[in-house]
Amino acid sequence: MPPAHVVAVAPGSPAASNGIRTGDEVLSLNGEAVRDVIRYQLQADEPVVELEIRRGGLEQLVVVEKPAGAPLGAELDSPVFDRVQTCDNHCPFCFIHQLPKGMRRSLYLKDDDYRLSFLYGNFTTLTRFTEADLERVVTERLGPLYVSIHATDPDVRAQLLRNRRGATSLRWLAALLDGGIDVHGQIVVCPGINDGAVLDDTLLGILDRFPRLLTVGVVPLGVSDYTNERDMRAHTTAEAAAVIDTVARWQQRFRSAVGRRLVFAADEYYVLAQCPFPDHGEYEGFPQHENGIGMVRAFESDVTAALRGEQAAGMGPRAGFFAWVDGAPADGYRAPRAARATPTSPGDRTATTSVAIVTGEYGARVLAPLLPELCDVAAGPVRLVVVPNRFFGGNIAVTGLLTGRDVSEALAGEPVGDRYLVPDVVLSRDRFLDGTTVADLPRAVEVVPTDGASLVAALR
Ligand code: SF4
Repeated sequence: MPPAHVVAVAPGSPAASNGIRTGDEVLSLNGEAVRDVIRYQLQADEPVVELEIRRGGLEQLVVVEKPAGAPLGAELDSPVFDRVQTCDNHCPFCFIHQLPKGMRRSLYLKDDDYRLSFLYGNFTTLTRFTEADLERVVTERLGPLYVSIHATDPDVRAQLLRNRRGATSLRWLAALLDGGIDVHGQIVVCPGINDGAVLDDTLLGILDRFPRLLTVGVVPLGVSDYTNERDMRAHTTAEAAAVIDTVARWQQRFRSAVGRRLVFAADEYYVLAQCPFPDHGEYEGFPQHENGIGMVRAFESDVTAALRGEQAAGMGPRAGFFAWVDGAPADGYRAPRAARATPTSPGDRTATTSVAIVTGEYGARVLAPLLPELCDVAAGPVRLVVVPNRFFGGNIAVTGLLTGRDVSEALAGEPVGDRYLVPDVVLSRDRFLDGTTVADLPRAVEVVPTDGASLVAALR
């Protein structure tokens, strides 16, 4: 097991005042080897923490005393040290299989690790889950977890995962729910395979076998130009509308049976079907906001609240457990993004400086109706720079999958001297998916957290 390295020490923290330094290897905490940041957190929460560290080849014991539950203040270089459990499925809709070559290596990692589900909200199929994992999850109360369901029919699920164990691994979902663990589910819908009657059957299976699921998100597959799967295709408008109808029908049934809607369709379906989005209250607190469910309504209401000078609900991207874990680095697709805007100097602006919001094609459909109000806030012209996703092609139109290359192409034709606002959802650890940074763009941009209140604040 590779050692954990300290990559940052919070100034003034117990770790700092006890001499822990960046670069130190942490061999154990309270005698327990550092297997992952979940165990690390449990030990670091103790009022007395004995850290066995190695610095320059020499081992030493550092004893930290602090209030129980207070952060230690040392960030480690990885969330998992005893190898990430990788996925042994071969889903035809897998977006990782549809990535072009040459992207950064971490993007090609197909994890199927319940710990990353707990830490980052990654979905797990449970095909590699074990009895020991179940015992740990239940004992340490590692929830909520996020489970890919796709279909409850064993044969269809095995076909979708291209893994025989997919037929039986939902037994672990039942065991997790029986163990009192909170779980959110997801169904990636592939038209012609698990939509229509199969989707109905899946939702019936959920009502019958897994009614304790907190929520189930129904999301469309993404199809990039790099897919090799002939059967994978984007939804037609009619197919998207049919999914919305199915979800609405089942929301009624779930409300009658379990008192809540339980199943929600992704925003993308309403854009595809050109249907109005459900009302704000129908999202029941936006539990799957980070997965593209209710983002539009949450964004709109944040904008409206900010325009009225009210406190927004703050439904920006959530980091879940990660928001409080002490020591876990940001990584994967869900790295925490900009905590605040990075404004250009107000002295560089003039009363006639025009503001442009950089967005993807779906984002533009959400932002366009809000432009008159946003112009009022900015007391000047506000426009959109809509960036088509040429990098991935296919049906990929969400803002979060824009690359620096496409943003550069779009900005190159824009006037110099305007303000360009870029939502932080396009960046992870300050990099676009293609590895470029905002410094590589042909225009200076301001990175703004991806929520309505932050956008209004940036325009003011
Ligand atoms: S389980 Fe996820 S990572 Fe694994 S092949 Fe399927 S979509 Fe890809």
